[in-house]
Amino acid sequence: MKEKLQKIREEAIARIKASGNPDALNEVRVSVLGKKGELTALLKSMKELAPEDRPAFGQLVNDTRAEIEKVMEEAKKNMDKLLLEAKLKSEVIDVTLPAKKNSVGHRHPNTIALEEVERIFIGMGYEVIEGPEVEYDLYNFEKLNIPANHPAKDEQDTFYINKDIVLRTQTSPVQARIMEKGKLPIRMISPGRVFRSDEVDATHSPSFHQIEGLVIDKNITFADLKGTLEEFAKELFGAETKTKFRPHHFPFTEPSAEVDVSCFKCGGKGCRFCKGSGWIEILGCGMVHPHVLEMCGIDPNEYTGFAFGVGLERIALLKYEIDDMRLLYENDIRFLKQF
Ligand SMILES: [Zn+2]
Repeated sequence: MKEKLQKIREEAIARIKASGNPDALNEVRVSVLGKKGELTALLKSMKELAPEDRPAFGQLVNDTRAEIEKVMEEAKKNMDKLLLEAKLKSEVIDVTLPAKKNSVGHRHPNTIALEEVERIFIGMGYEVIEGPEVEYDLYNFEKLNIPANHPAKDEQDTFYINKDIVLRTQTSPVQARIMEKGKLPIRMISPGRVFRSDEVDATHSPSFHQIEGLVIDKNITFADLKGTLEEFAKELFGAETKTKFRPHHFPFTEPSAEVDVSCFKCGGKGCRFCKGSGWIEILGCGMVHPHVLEMCGIDPNEYTGFAFGVGLERIALLKYEIDDMRLLYENDIRFLKQF
């Protein structure tokens, strides 16, 4: 039996040394030291020994068990150490490597200009309202006093989805939608994308942005319109800015005007930027046509109002002195980062 014990001991130690991972080590533990293990079986067979030999042999088995456990413990420690070393090696950080640059997005000049315009009008008590980009012909044209035979409705200028639905050519249909709701007074701006069948060049694009403005209340006069837009121009281009209203024609306003601001580059003396005139055109405006009010269910004898439309790109181009509109749509990060 002593030889058998010796054999178990030698085999166990050899297996422990050969085991390369914690699982293999555990297998040895179970098969040698476990309840059904070899050592336990040997203890059970002690009854074959003479009674006087049993204590000494029992002691021997226990010593062997202790020795195997010790070897196993050391193997385990060694294994943990190697695992830790491997882990540290694989997770090593080379602090001399250049850091990865976080690429942070940048606001588009259009967005910066829009937020500026919104800030100004919200400061004057206006609401910001959005409308659909795919619009009924009815709202885009008819309700804005643009009859069926008007040149603006030409297929050359407008993207038609079908006979009754168009990609809106202006943000003005939002006016009709808001007036129709009948909640008065109205004081709103409506920024958004509009579409025209234009070729792309330095000043044109088939898709661009407008900001519509509308005020409807009792006793609104052209003086209110002038005061509001003068204040807007001063906020946007600087306190020295002068405004000039030139008579113009729009179907949905009467009287109508185009607004020029004094050149913020030369102060009105004339320069390359303002093409020598000292003035820069920025928007169209007018008093809401009584017929438009009527079509939207508002009594023109009780209420009056004014409307204006600004090209957002026009403001961004002027404010940031960009000479080609195409730059705004190319999404070249080197360009966009300048603003
Ligand atoms: Zn100028």
